[in-house]
Formats: sequence, C-alpha cells, structure tokens
Amino acid sequence: MPITKAIFDKKNILVIGGAGFVGSHLCDELLKSNKVICVDNFLTGDNVNISHLLQNPDFRFINHNIIEPLDLESLAELEYFRLSFQGVQEIYFLASPTSPSTYIKYPIETLLVNSVGLRNALDLAAKYQSKLLFASSPAVYGSGTGQMLIKETYVGPVDNLNPRACYVEAKRFGETLVMNYHQKTGIDTKIARIFNCYGSRMGLKDGRMIPELIQAARHGQELVIYGKETDVASYFFVEDLIRALIKLMHSEESGPLNIASEWKISLKEVGEKIISLCNSQSKIIFNDRPTNFAAQPLADITLAKEKLGWFPIVLLDEGLKETIDYLSAQEGIRRPESANL
Ligand code: NAD
Repeated sequence: MPITKAIFDKKNILVIGGAGFVGSHLCDELLKSNKVICVDNFLTGDNVNISHLLQNPDFRFINHNIIEPLDLESLAELEYFRLSFQGVQEIYFLASPTSPSTYIKYPIETLLVNSVGLRNALDLAAKYQSKLLFASSPAVYGSGTGQMLIKETYVGPVDNLNPRACYVEAKRFGETLVMNYHQKTGIDTKIARIFNCYGSRMGLKDGRMIPELIQAARHGQELVIYGKETDVASYFFVEDLIRALIKLMHSEESGPLNIASEWKISLKEVGEKIISLCNSQSKIIFNDRPTNFAAQPLADITLAKEKLGWFPIVLLDEGLKETIDYLSAQEGIRRPESANL
C-alpha cells in the first residue's frame, strides 16, 4: 500500500536567513518542538547569534548563499533529517539585508535575494509541498503614508530610482512572486509585513535606531534622532514577532498581514526612556532625516488581531531593558571580527 503521509516525531523546518536578528530568535523557539535547518551566508548575520545552537542535535547550520540553488538531500550533514522520506514541512524566508545602511551597501544582493533567492526557496517549497512564509516590510506601501494607521490594502507611490528602492522594489517583487507561486503551484504561502521590531542580536553596525541610541546612552554620547521631537513611531519586541510568525505559519491565512505594535510613542520619549534605563546623562539631538531614511508608517493591526488572535504583549520598558542588558553583556565579550563558521 502506498504511503500517503509520512509519520515522524518532529517537523523539519528550514529557516533561510536564520543567523540574523529575527532568524536566530525564530530558530531558538522552533527548536523547542521541531528539527531546524538554518541556512545563511552571514552577509549581515553573525555566527554569535546561533553558536549556542550548534550542539543541539535537532539543529544544523548550512553556510549557503540562497541566490544559488540548494539541494538539501545532497548534503551529508542533513542525513539525520531523513529529507527524502520526511520532507520539509515549513520554510521561513527571512534572508535579506534589512536596515538602510546594509541594503544601501548591498543593493544588488538585496534585489537578488528577494527575487532569485526567494524563487529557490519557493522551488524547495513546491518540491516538498511545504508551507513558506515570506518576511516582507511596510516599505512596500511606498510614500504618502504620513502618520495615518496603514491598512494592508494601502498602495502608495514608489520612486524606483531612489537609493532605498533596492529594498522597496525587492520586497514588492518578492510579494508578487510569492502570490504567483501560490496561484500556480497551490503551495501554502504566507506574507508578513513586519514593522519596527527590536531586541537582542540586532546588528550593532546596521544603523538601526534602538541599538544606536542604547550604545550612545551607555557611552555618555549624544543620542542622535533623525526626525522631529513630535514624530511618533511604534516598536515591538522580537519575542512578540516570533509568536506572530509562528501563528501565521500555523494559520489558514496567507496575508499579507501587518505585524506591528499599535502603541504609539514620540521619538523624544523613546530617547528619554533609553537614557533613563541606561542611567545615562546623555542629551538628545534631533537631525533632519537623510534621504535614504524613510519614516516608518504606523500600522493598523486589526487583521492580525482578527485572523491570528495576535497582538504584542511585551511592554517597551521591559523589551528595552532586555536589549540593554544584552548589548552590555556583548560589549564584555571580545571576539574576532569575522570568525564565521
Ligand atoms: P538581518 O540582517 O539581521 O538578518 C537577515 C539574515 O539573512 C542575515 O543573517 C543574512 O546574513 C542573511 N542573508 C542575507 N542574504 C542572504 C543570502 N543571499 N543567502 C543566505 N542568507 C542571507 O535582518 P532581520 O532584522 O533579522 O530581518 C529578517 C527579515 O525580516 C528580512 O527579510 C527583513 O527584510 C524582514 N524585516 C525585518 C524587520 C525588523 O524590524 N527586523 C522589519 C521589516 C522586515
């Protein structure tokens, strides 16, 4: 009798971009009840984010640029996953430079990973009939969002030759590719539009606001905030994001869904909270935003609440404290610049 459904103890899950900020936290959580294959080429990730997982028998790291096709079954180190029999059940596609300083440094890589790299991942999903979740961004909304609460249906104009366009257009193309693969092959795909998320393991050289402000406050330097004192933003903690991604993967929803916090806070208050939590005497200065720095829109998360029963629960003070503790601990650890695996 033919086997229609493999029986196995744990799912095989692929996390592409798993050595980055979000990916490494996702691997931590998934490993509690699954086997995880983490694929990354360390373009913007760091081996320190996953080094604690290397001894876990259910975890394997594959150093691979996903722009090149990936034949998982040819890799001896993945024998334990019995891929030809058990297949792959879920694929999280997180690989992409994310912060303005990294995607402007790697524009071609950003365009290629969200197109050719994503296509390679979708081919794997089609081969194994696995679900695939694509990490997208509110950058797809284009400009004109101002400070309104943006819904998933908003479509704004995009300047395709602006320096940021390598990221914006890459994410827009990525979403279109995912939707068309879904329609053509019937694979179960999901799109998450992730707003401002923060937490431990954010790249310190990425130029992302929260780690930069924390570092400045800890060293008694001026906190430089790009924007006006009265500008409001919203931030949510990485633990909440991981819950959202897993809920979306397990749901019937395909998205796109805004994953964000709806607690608004002024940029000034964010700076003041960081100064206070770091017991710092630093001052805040406000500078005009450089052209490649777009203010992130604010999200309407009604759909995520209704469809996933999800909303962020970690308070900003708690999340910031944890991030500050992590960055302080990291500073005490000296390691070679590029000791990649
Ligand atoms: P990150 O830069 O920390 O992680 C991305 C990872 O992908 C890195 O480890 C990098 O080395 C890897 N990578 C890049 N190109 C690759 C390639 N060609 N092959 C293999 N690996 C490759 O970024 P992050 O903050 O963890 O973001 C993860 C995803 O979520 C990204 O797709 C990003 O666009 C999206 N996102 C994140 C946020 C946020 O607030 N962190 C907001 C919006 C969207």
